[in-house]
Amino acid sequence: MLLRYRYRIYPTRPQRTTLAGAFGCARVVFNDAVAARRDAHREGLPYPTTARLSKALITDAKRTSRRSWLASVSAVVLQQALADADRAYRNFFASLSGRRAGARMGPPRFKRRTGTQAIRFTRNARFKVLDNGRLHLPKIGDLKVAWSRALPAGPSSVTVIKTATGKYYASFVVAVDEDAELAEPLADPDAETGIDLGLKDFAVLRSGKAIESPKFFRKLERKLKKAQRALSRKAKGSANRAKARVKVAKIHEKIKDTRSDWVNKQVKTIVAENQGIYVEDLNVRGLSRGRAAKSIQDAAFGMFLTRLESKANRAGRTFAKVDRYFPSTRLCSSCGALTGPTGLDGLSIRRWRCGCGAVHDRDANAEINIRREGQRLVAAGHADTR
Ligand SMILES: [Zn+2]
Repeated sequence: MLLRYRYRIYPTRPQRTTLAGAFGCARVVFNDAVAARRDAHREGLPYPTTARLSKALITDAKRTSRRSWLASVSAVVLQQALADADRAYRNFFASLSGRRAGARMGPPRFKRRTGTQAIRFTRNARFKVLDNGRLHLPKIGDLKVAWSRALPAGPSSVTVIKTATGKYYASFVVAVDEDAELAEPLADPDAETGIDLGLKDFAVLRSGKAIESPKFFRKLERKLKKAQRALSRKAKGSANRAKARVKVAKIHEKIKDTRSDWVNKQVKTIVAENQGIYVEDLNVRGLSRGRAAKSIQDAAFGMFLTRLESKANRAGRTFAKVDRYFPSTRLCSSCGALTGPTGLDGLSIRRWRCGCGAVHDRDANAEINIRREGQRLVAAGHADTR
């Protein structure tokens, strides 16, 4: 994900003069490119490529007395001005052909001295944020920056902007991993949870906090069944059959999107709130065997575990999988005896009492056991924590 970070900058008087020259050079190159393309269009010639314009309007132009002052600016700034002109034309052509959404655009116009001015430095221009906090720009100098917030990573480019009111800004483009903000350890290192995936609730977290199975799982499943039945009744090759097939495909698509969004939301919350995350390495397909109506949920379990592991790892969380044969449900979390419900008969038992006197909610007890086993594995160095 690319983000822009914008800061006010305060160039000195000589730097403002140098910047004005650079803005002027970029503007001239942009305008020369627009003029060259207009001329080519008028004379029915092919659209001149950026490579050709680069040679004519930058490399060769620098050797003429009319444009020799272009040499006073970083070549990258001039190349970027050409790239801007090229982008403006591509947008214009896309708009003409209807490939670009929104109102029709006019062809690129000449830039004026009075509007907002901008020049862009890419990484190969060797701009640099110095240790003293100043921004070094080649052939301009070291500029004072008001760092209102820290840059999260090294920027790939910086655009220096002068507004019509005479204020200066530096706008950095930074590639940000969306998990970067999560990668800081949580203030509470004990914020850890086991995750017990289930039938009644989608999952149970620490302290019995449940993630309910969303109602749309069942609702969409019913809708899909109905559409599939309707499809099977339509005559082969008929227009109605084609229509019914589109309807089934649309429901499948809706299921996919809705499930994916929902899973992402759950994963994001869990990773944001927990420093350690422990799950059962489930045979997900077996979890709701015999309940055909739950197939959306089955797919969601698999997606949930995969994305949870990936996001937890990227955010620097502790993540461990507990062996699927670990008796998380049967184990009494108070005394350690295997007294809990077992087998298919045990599926309906929500609460149970151990011989030691402890009364357990089935899922909350399982979460405690999964969390402890996960913590034990990590401490022993066995876990797949990567
Ligand atoms: Zn017990």
